[in-house]
Amino acid sequence: MAVPFRRTSKTAKRQRRTHIKLSVPGMVACPNCGEMKLAHRVCKECGTYKGKEVVNK
Ligand SMILES: [Zn+2]
Repeated sequence: MAVPFRRTSKTAKRQRRTHIKLSVPGMVACPNCGEMKLAHRVCKECGTYKGKEVVNK
């Protein structure tokens, strides 16, 4: 098996990983209360989805 001739420098390692980042799950503002919520899910603050209340508090 081939072995690297030189140790990869910190800079080279970091440059290679610049495009590897955590992705934030799709968050949108609730049209009812303005809270940030997950897209395509019932708002956990006011319990609405598509303008209707679907969860009773
Ligand atoms: Zn809401």
